[in-house]
Amino acid sequence: PVDRSPEIQEARLKLPILAEEQIIMEAISENPIVIICGETGSGKTTQVPQFLYEAGYASSNSAIGITEPRRVAAVSMSQRVAKEMNLSHREVSYQIRYEGNVSDETQIKFMTDGVLLKEIQKDFLLSKYKVVIIDEAHERSMYTDILIGLLSRIVPLREKKGLPLKLIIMSATLRVEDFTDNNRLFSVTPPVIQVDARQFPVTVHFNKKTPLDDYSGECFRKVCKIHRMLPPGGILVFLTGQAEVHSLCRRLRKAFPFQKNNPAGGDDDKEESVEEIRKFKKSRRRKKVMALPKIDLDNYSVVPVDEGDEDRDAETDDDIAGSDIDLDLGDGDSEEDEKSDSSLPLYVLPLYSLLAPEKQAKVFGAPPPGTRLCVVATNVAETSLTIPGIKYVVDCGKVKKRFYDKITGVSSFRVTWISQASANQRAGRAGRTEPGHCYRLYSSAVFMDFEKFSAPEITKRPVEDLILQMKALNIEKVINFPFPTPPPTEALAAAEELLIALGALKEPPVMGRLTQQRAAKLSCPISPLGRIMATFPVAPRYAKMLALSRQHDCLPYTITIVSAMTVRELFEEFDRPAVSEEETAKLKGKKSRLLQMQKIWAGQGPMQMLGDLMVMLGAVGACEYAGCTRKFCEENGLRYKAMLEIRRLRGQLTTAVNSVCADAGLYVDPKMKPPTEAQATFLRQIVLAGLGDHVARRVQAEELLDDKWKNAYKTALLDDPVFIHPSSVLFKQLPEFVVYQEIVETTKMYMKGVSAVEPE
Ligand code: ADP
Ligand code: MG
Repeated sequence: PVDRSPEIQEARLKLPILAEEQIIMEAISENPIVIICGETGSGKTTQVPQFLYEAGYASSNSAIGITEPRRVAAVSMSQRVAKEMNLSHREVSYQIRYEGNVSDETQIKFMTDGVLLKEIQKDFLLSKYKVVIIDEAHERSMYTDILIGLLSRIVPLREKKGLPLKLIIMSATLRVEDFTDNNRLFSVTPPVIQVDARQFPVTVHFNKKTPLDDYSGECFRKVCKIHRMLPPGGILVFLTGQAEVHSLCRRLRKAFPFQKNNPAGGDDDKEESVEEIRKFKKSRRRKKVMALPKIDLDNYSVVPVDEGDEDRDAETDDDIAGSDIDLDLGDGDSEEDEKSDSSLPLYVLPLYSLLAPEKQAKVFGAPPPGTRLCVVATNVAETSLTIPGIKYVVDCGKVKKRFYDKITGVSSFRVTWISQASANQRAGRAGRTEPGHCYRLYSSAVFMDFEKFSAPEITKRPVEDLILQMKALNIEKVINFPFPTPPPTEALAAAEELLIALGALKEPPVMGRLTQQRAAKLSCPISPLGRIMATFPVAPRYAKMLALSRQHDCLPYTITIVSAMTVRELFEEFDRPAVSEEETAKLKGKKSRLLQMQKIWAGQGPMQMLGDLMVMLGAVGACEYAGCTRKFCEENGLRYKAMLEIRRLRGQLTTAVNSVCADAGLYVDPKMKPPTEAQATFLRQIVLAGLGDHVARRVQAEELLDDKWKNAYKTALLDDPVFIHPSSVLFKQLPEFVVYQEIVETTKMYMKGVSAVEPE
């Protein structure tokens, strides 16, 4: 029996999914696999695990497992469910990449999809679960796709053993055909349960013109207008990245401060005085805020193709209201917006995945009385988290994504248009508690050109890590695997080639015909080295480095370097737009301090040749030596969250290494000494062995035909010149041969994580 508080009970009863409990539980008891579709916010993630718990699917030796593609969701949903059920974190727990609170009492376990994949490697039948829920399946993350493929085989195997496993796939109401109309995946089509949306109508307003690039400024102006002119209700803004989110937050806090003493504040929730609330109400009266007109209930969702007309929604509203209020708010500039106005306090909160969890959690709390909530988010708010009380959505229509070249793996972050499905999800966020409005900062014509759905991740990125994991599961013919959507053959071939080069797969026998050779390459079995590599929770290139580091007591260093390369983004980013001169000066000071520290961390002699990898090693060493405190990180330009993650990953890799070579006897030493000269030299060889396909050679003077090759490097894979990134400590040194962690394309192709090597 679950003992829920009356408030929780009341909130639950409002969720559409509660009405379907019986139907859902019957379907689950009668079918091995069930698909549940329902609008975001209908209660799938928080309630289905509770239904299962109450129906007795969890016990002391078998847990209910739920996977989430996003770490944010795994953590916050486990906390929410624990709270709703009045259970402790020992019983409702989470496990994300390097962190978790799972105990031997855990009965409901939220985890990222990658964590469950690792568990399948240890126990293919997942015998400790009676139910596995794959949540957010519409996101089509690579690991979610692969899990669905694997589970489609595990479920019948468990059935044969007489220990049935239930599989539940949950998704927003988006393209489930890839799962249902796919005979290779599920020979018997699983039942699909639709949860009634009970969504309030959302009126969509398109801009007449699409701003060319300043969508961030356009967001600012739109929020200002909503806040000045429209009735109460939270605002949710979708932007593309952390820097944009912060800069908009700062601008909005400056324009509508809600704490007299702290104009840029808003980070601390303090009680608001009665006086301020009174002032807020008065100012609202003064500004003649009108009630929203009644909204046409048929007007939700987007304007159909043939009726595409930016003015339609606004006109409809005006007709009904018979007033001159312009809900469409119009495009473009308005003079008064920038002026600071403390009579209209706005409670501005950022939300993005790298944000510290306690700050993320703030969006679920009520805004201080007398203020309006405004959450500025990246697309984490699109489907994974439902923020209460949102009535207005401002959608810039863009998303920042990492794009990879299928063969070379060169990646670039690009801001692109979202899909129509995403745009509709974003709009839907406005209609959870009452009718709402969505302001799209692009025209309906532009919307019509959006792709319908975004492509599944597995078709978009290099798959070597995935292939190694699959080979470790003895899936040799990867090409025959029941993928919901298979990755392109050239990506599969590139992955197998890399794994063969790293020694993780056995070389295929040499055969006569090229086509035969190719086919053989696509079904190479894993080698003993590959098996060891697959036990390390890092990319195959880094796993190879770990597997080679036994000599010269180098393992602790390799573990640290690999941890730092895996966690990425160790250093704070200080090249961001500032709102005041004061802030500009502060950022400049912090940046020069970081540069100074990086020079120190880079060491001397052979250590220095390790370049950026030595900087990472030095930074982690120094930080651990100082006790890995927030203070140390802030003073030296290190990202505290990254440092904590590196610490956990070091621990985890140390355990993994000890378990494959029992005599290593490793432990994580917080007072690790810098490597000796001999060790530094050996480390460079190890790095070269892992990043052997990432070698670049400086262009020689006689090859300098074109100015574009000045200071450039040549790689095996690319025809174009690549450059050492300006943030690298080797930027000025320009060694003849280097290896790089990755190439990222911005204005040029830049190598990041650079280290000098001397090829034999
Ligand atoms: P779905 O998975 O169908 O998108 P959820 O189960 O995530 O829906 O959400 C159901 C409801 O629970 C939403 O109204 C959401 O606002 C609320 N909710 C989720 N997490 C929290 C939280 N940490 N605090 C308060 N409310 C929450
Ligand atoms: Mg959910």
